[in-house]
Amino acid sequence: MKVDCLIVGAGPAGSVMAKEMASYGYDVLVVEKKQEIGCPKRCAEGVTKHGLDKLEMKIHPLCIFGRIKGAILYSPSGKKVLMEGEEMEGYVLERKIFEKWLAAEAIKEGARYMVKAQAIDMERKNGNWLLKVKTIEGIKEIEAKLVVGADGVESKVGRWAGLNTTNKITDYHSGIQFEMAGLNIENKYIHIFFGREVAPLGYAWIFPKAFSFNVGLGILVKQAKMRAYDYLKKFIEEHEEIFRNAQPIEINAGGVPVAHFTEMVTDGVMLVGDAAQLVNPIHGGGIYRAIHSSLMAAEVANKALKENDLSKERLKEYEKKWEEEYGEKTKKLMKLRAFLEKLEDKDFELLAEILQGEDIYALTQAKLNFFIKKLIKKPSLLVLAKKYLM
Ligand SMILES: Cc1cc2nc3c(=O)[nH]c(=O)nc-3n(C[C@H](O)[C@H](O)[C@H](O)COP(=O)(O)OP(=O)(O)OC[C@H]3O[C@@H](n4cnc5c(N)ncnc54)[C@H](O)[C@@H]3O)c2cc1C
Repeated sequence: MKVDCLIVGAGPAGSVMAKEMASYGYDVLVVEKKQEIGCPKRCAEGVTKHGLDKLEMKIHPLCIFGRIKGAILYSPSGKKVLMEGEEMEGYVLERKIFEKWLAAEAIKEGARYMVKAQAIDMERKNGNWLLKVKTIEGIKEIEAKLVVGADGVESKVGRWAGLNTTNKITDYHSGIQFEMAGLNIENKYIHIFFGREVAPLGYAWIFPKAFSFNVGLGILVKQAKMRAYDYLKKFIEEHEEIFRNAQPIEINAGGVPVAHFTEMVTDGVMLVGDAAQLVNPIHGGGIYRAIHSSLMAAEVANKALKENDLSKERLKEYEKKWEEEYGEKTKKLMKLRAFLEKLEDKDFELLAEILQGEDIYALTQAKLNFFIKKLIKKPSLLVLAKKYLM
């Protein structure tokens, strides 16, 4: 089989790429190793409305399983900071539906899909790529002019193509989550909990859905005394008032790459979404960036295919676009992450005293100067901030 564009992985990045490339008129094939697209999910399913609007994405209403007004942040001792406002409004999706809907949108444009089809290897052949794909009907060989690695955090496409895709172990967070029913908690906000004993160098969350909640946490394994699962059990036990009548209806786990590596393309290959490790390094949200990366990559791929030039140099335009849009911001957020990783519980208490919801939103947008000024009132934090943020 021969195609113009072969996409490995049918997550948000893969299906958005498929829709774009099919709409330009290319012969597009998506291979997905799971037997069911979107299932099991490895995600708390939160997206901001403002983010989707920016991407001009009108998602099908059936994908939305919760509407939220903002976030409530909890310091280790339980002090609350409320984050509200238009930019904090958002949705909790049902990814099992969202991903199928994204695939259906791509299929409407003419993309082809194979499920339970796992890419297992690839090699260069006559200027194209030859992929081996394990399917229910046996191993298939598929030749493609362009291969898009949309294969998530465990991506192999980049490695097969010779890119160095390995980051430091400290650049991966380990996430674990129950979907639970029967919680006793307000359901118009997402709830975020901080503390070294809650989730070392990460945070715990409760995201409300129509009749259930995603309850999870992400930690940096290297700094942890227990497994992520044990922290989650402890978190649930310690919040008796919320979880008294709660029961799990699903458990899922996954890795979150919280640092970006630089090379996203090589000859005839582009990486998008988590495969290129593009999540926001502060909160670990990756759906928005996965979709945005595919929109950018597809625009460049279209031009490159038209010019019949899929060289690394030509495809680098995608990398440059990404860098222009996100490079500076990501660098600042990485500094902020380094700063936050140095904080003790007492420091989070101090921050909860001086920061309002809008300050925290500004921080997530990599606005650091105002933050340093605010810390003048807290000299111990100012020293750290000067070291890590300036
Ligand atoms: C616990 C947890 C909570 C999270 N919560 C949020 C959140 O609330 N909001 C948010 O924005 N982000 C969240 N994220 C991050 C978000 O889930 C990812 O950033 C997003 O899914 C990236 O999309 P993607 O399409 O790049 O990759 P994925 O969604 O991971 O999709 C990759 C696809 O490739 C397939 N695949 C892999 N290898 C192969 C192969 N060899 N052959 C064929 N198919 C293959 C996989 O089966 C998968 O379907 C969370 C992550 C975790 C782990």
